[in-house]
Amino acid sequence: MVPPGPRGLLLAAGLSVDQVLDRPIDRAARASDASHYRLTPAAVVIARDADDVARTITACAANSVGVTFRSGGTSLSGQGITDQVLVDTRRHFRAIEVLEEGRAVRTQPGATVRAVNALLRPYGRRLGPDPASESACTIGGVVANNSSGMSCGTHANAYRTLLALNLVLPSGTRLDTGRPDADDELRRTEPALHAGLLELRDRVRENADSLRTIRRLFAIKNTMGYGVNAFLDHDQPADILAHLVVGSEGTLAFVASATFATVPAPRFASTGLLVLPSLAEAAAVLPEVAATQPASIELMDTGSLMVATRGERAPAGLRADTLAAQAALLVPRQLGLCRNRVALR
Ligand SMILES: Cc1cc2nc3c(=O)[nH]c(=O)nc-3n(C[C@H](O)[C@H](O)[C@H](O)COP(=O)(O)OP(=O)(O)OC[C@H]3O[C@@H](n4cnc5c(N)ncnc54)[C@H](O)[C@@H]3O)c2cc1C
Repeated sequence: MVPPGPRGLLLAAGLSVDQVLDRPIDRAARASDASHYRLTPAAVVIARDADDVARTITACAANSVGVTFRSGGTSLSGQGITDQVLVDTRRHFRAIEVLEEGRAVRTQPGATVRAVNALLRPYGRRLGPDPASESACTIGGVVANNSSGMSCGTHANAYRTLLALNLVLPSGTRLDTGRPDADDELRRTEPALHAGLLELRDRVRENADSLRTIRRLFAIKNTMGYGVNAFLDHDQPADILAHLVVGSEGTLAFVASATFATVPAPRFASTGLLVLPSLAEAAAVLPEVAATQPASIELMDTGSLMVATRGERAPAGLRADTLAAQAALLVPRQLGLCRNRVALR
């Protein structure tokens, strides 16, 4: 339950009147994202920098008011909506810095995947995560949802390509996990958090069942919840924390900037759609298609094909009135990328 007057609380925290929106029209405009859900925020904060976010989360935490970050708003499960305080972290967070001749990139959370890739293109590189929503989704959402996409699998998703995060923790503490002294800094500023992460790391590592379960679950793509594989993949609490934030849906920290290793961009790309009489026949030809080493293969059932017929660029011959039990294999090819694995430092 939100206590009355989140506006007063936010203004008292140092935000200016034009940053705190609570007119019905402003709240209604942010009541939905790309999901089926609808929640009208009690107030909307337009954050201008990480200090504004720190002010907002510490004031709300002290008054038991929930805070949700909203960036591109393309999430499919209601991650970007709330009935409490919603913070717009897209508008003023769009800076992008290409590093090491394009082999890495540091970006603020409001930059879209498309904008980042446009700056990397002259270097023949791109981000590993390739969500289909790339024109609208942003780095904040990509990190917080551990976004992947059709071609990046689990080897080049946000978790695997992440190098460092600049974080604002719920206490307001700032941490740049890319600094050589990041772990000492975390121990100094957040001793309980640092000790807790070490304790959890050792507990997970000492339990053979946990190890087996984590390895099995995180080898595949559709694993939900916190990225507890971070306890196996990283030793230092600062690195563990950075990788736990990936996929945490904004519940652990605000991502003020993220640095990623990039992957080679394909020089040539094409996509084939193989329509077959049934799902069984589509499954039967899979080994043969896989042997040609495409970037990925996506199985489309009749329902998906029906939707595809509505698109302006639907292939000629794919007509809703002739579809019955067919299935299709969508097969992208990317020359220069097939079977590549991202080289992390
Ligand atoms: C047509 C369509 C296709 C899609 N295709 C894919 C796909 O191929 N692969 C895939 O993985 N997803 C896909 N998605 C889902 C979604 O687009 C992605 O998960 C995307 O990365 C979300 O980014 P966003 O900027 O829209 O984040 P939002 O929806 O605004 O937020 C997502 C989550 O991130 C949190 N968050 C946002 N910014 C920050 C920040 N700075 N710090 C901390 N937390 C933050 C929010 O609180 C929320 O929990 C698709 C969605 C659509 C509509």
